[in-house]
Amino acid sequence: MTPEEFRRHGKQVIDWIADYLSNIESFPVRAQVAPGDVRRALPVSPPECGSSFTEILADLDRTLLPGVTHWQHPRFFAYFPSNTSGAAILGDLLSSGLGVQGMLWATSPSCTELETVAVDWLAELLGLPRHFRTDATGGGVIQDSASSASLLATLAALSRATGGVTAHAGITGRHTLYVSSETHSSLEKAARIVGLGADNVRKVPVDPATLAMDATALDRMLATDLADGAIPVMVCATVGTTSTAAIDPVRAIGEVCREREVWLHVDAAYAGVAAVCPELRWVNDGVAEYADSYVTNPHKWLLTNFDCSVLWVADRAPLLDAMSIQPEYLRNRATSSGAVIDYRDWQIPLGRRFRALKLWAVMRWYGADGLRDHIRTGAALATEFATWVARDPDFELHEPQVLSLVCLRPRWPELSTGEANDATTRLMESLNASGALYLTHTKVDGRVLLRMAIGSPTTEERHLREAWLRIREEHRKTLADLALERAT
Ligand SMILES: *Cc1c(COP(=O)(O)O)cnc(C)c1O
Repeated sequence: MTPEEFRRHGKQVIDWIADYLSNIESFPVRAQVAPGDVRRALPVSPPECGSSFTEILADLDRTLLPGVTHWQHPRFFAYFPSNTSGAAILGDLLSSGLGVQGMLWATSPSCTELETVAVDWLAELLGLPRHFRTDATGGGVIQDSASSASLLATLAALSRATGGVTAHAGITGRHTLYVSSETHSSLEKAARIVGLGADNVRKVPVDPATLAMDATALDRMLATDLADGAIPVMVCATVGTTSTAAIDPVRAIGEVCREREVWLHVDAAYAGVAAVCPELRWVNDGVAEYADSYVTNPHKWLLTNFDCSVLWVADRAPLLDAMSIQPEYLRNRATSSGAVIDYRDWQIPLGRRFRALKLWAVMRWYGADGLRDHIRTGAALATEFATWVARDPDFELHEPQVLSLVCLRPRWPELSTGEANDATTRLMESLNASGALYLTHTKVDGRVLLRMAIGSPTTEERHLREAWLRIREEHRKTLADLALERAT
């Protein structure tokens, strides 16, 4: 494709995306296909001859679009939001256009230095502590996902806990990792990958009311394990759990970690970006004083399309001890001088994309003010939705309701917990199948809850009103269907 052909088709593609985003409400939110439908509609073998880009776009419309779930739809409430924005899309396109490999400073200095500036800016926007900054002892780095970020935190923590032996001899003995029942599964995955083993992932009890980790129970568990000869590697506290956005008491957990000299990692993948708003900085209480590492995802609720997850460390030395290797073919003067950062030492792969461009474009386009507006809008919409749920006798609101997530349970008079769970699931399935909205569920204390994850920049109050109407209608309909089935 020549630059001139690229210019022509590039304009077509930008138009395609702009049309898509302006017509997105006309699509059913969840893909309406059965397993294998998309694959069967595509040729088994690759084409012998090339085709025009117009034909490629036509296939996108005809064959692929029906199998797309519209994550940017204003009535997408499943999982967590996965925001995009024009600014981020264009930043990402520029990154593709430049096509640089940013593994070392020397392989494209701007790729590294813009990233340093972008993560330091973001730390400032979120009110994160000074020592997380690259010009202090720590530093931030963009990863593909919070899962990778937590894996790196585990590696760094293990390196510190073993005095650096992981880089050479490998570990011996029992090393333990502390999470709660509500911690994201990526931590268990990290324990498996690092070689701690899933059996050494210790589940600390949670407060049954708030689902937050019990810091006293953590202390007791650490004491027992230490007495048994285990080496505690890391505690992961979560700010905004994936199930209900519960917030662990980072400060109390941090005090325990400090006392016992254990690395504290804070997983704030979804909720951390709320701290762009000074009035929401309470979410990070204790992070400044106690966190050794911290992750939040601009690719969830901060207008930056996937992938963009930022990991910060308070002290970069253990991470670099764990990750740096210097093969001959990567030797260069800038690296040897020690004057530059090589982000390959801050991540698992060698190669890296110029992801900082999209994050930088987002921060510049919106400004701190625009980012705060976005978060405030999502949080305010959720608070409003929660009041509708709380007022409705047919539904129960799960409390505490946190930030832009609302968890709710339809009431099913006279049904056992198991039957009620089936009825809730049936209600959700038929809502999702209708295409009118898309939501997912979780289970708390054996009971199925619906999760309404708000936070798309396109969601307005009218979309929530429509969704709420549909949920209530579907509840009445399911009740009637169940009564009829019982009668016959
Ligand atoms: C979404 C989420 C993750 C996983 O994020 P990825 O970036 O998809 O790996 C981890 N932890 C929490 C608390 C999350 O909400």
